[in-house]
Amino acid sequence: MLTSPHALQQQLAINSTSKIDSFDFGWSGYQVIKTDVKRDDQLHPIISGNKWRKLKYALTEIMTSNCRHIVSFGGGHSNHLHALAYCCHKLNIRFTAIVRGDYSNHLTPTLVDLKAWQSELVFVDKQTYQQRTSADYLQRLKITYPNAVIIPEGGSQTQALAGIGEILAEQPQKYDYVLAPVASGATLAGLIMAAPKTTRVIGIAVLKGQDYLEGLVGELLPKAYDNWQILHQFHCGGYAKSNQELVTFCQHFSHRYQVPIEPVYSGKLFYAFKQLLAENYFHAHSKILLIHTGGLQGARAK
Ligand SMILES: *Cc1c(COP(=O)(O)O)cnc(C)c1O
Repeated sequence: MLTSPHALQQQLAINSTSKIDSFDFGWSGYQVIKTDVKRDDQLHPIISGNKWRKLKYALTEIMTSNCRHIVSFGGGHSNHLHALAYCCHKLNIRFTAIVRGDYSNHLTPTLVDLKAWQSELVFVDKQTYQQRTSADYLQRLKITYPNAVIIPEGGSQTQALAGIGEILAEQPQKYDYVLAPVASGATLAGLIMAAPKTTRVIGIAVLKGQDYLEGLVGELLPKAYDNWQILHQFHCGGYAKSNQELVTFCQHFSHRYQVPIEPVYSGKLFYAFKQLLAENYFHAHSKILLIHTGGLQGARAK
């Protein structure tokens, strides 16, 4: 059945675009700068913003084909598994989630939702999970699930870049800087490709991964670009790690600006932005766009 991305979006009740809010946060260094926030957190109440952007074309292709089974990977609090499981539930697609770690006796709130949406949960140990990109392992999965499409962790594959690019294409304003959190790299790669040459794209690493993250982004890009970089000083010790300062910052911020943020992704982004302003990191009179990528699964665990 031929499906268009637009039809799929309607079927899932996902907003076709997200809005941009302008803020005066009153942070030091702020006075010289215009700050906009792209509210991808508001695309859908359940499907996490950047995860939809990444899945949009892959899911359209799957719906157009005869395949009705998807296999993918993630942790117990994964925004990606959560978003994809919900989509599959709504679209009558069988979904097998390969989960890092054994949560069978203590499902996380995220995994409880997956169960309710009839996902099949397959718990694997860390060693097995580490093989998630190896050709051998993927070949074995294809034998176990012969009629399934396998989507990589985070939905991060070449197909994801076009969907991400639409974040910038929706409002053709020019920014001097675009900032977004980075984990598996596809969001940043999509932004790098879609950004005008004069825009600097800055990734805020949410995990310890100097060089590793640059490699992930570079592998997804069809050619070399020189309009981007990743900053590594804001991960607070690693993926999903935080400290009291960050937690308090998120609470105050969410309350004060009525923009929900959490310590895993968006909190690190906004906190980094605040610190960069204090360091006079940006050129004077810069126009800055912060991408609120959505995703509140990490916050539910706490
Ligand atoms: C997954 C996720 C990211 C990271 O995106 P990558 O494409 O994996 O780098 C950022 N923000 C949120 C809310 C996410 O769920």
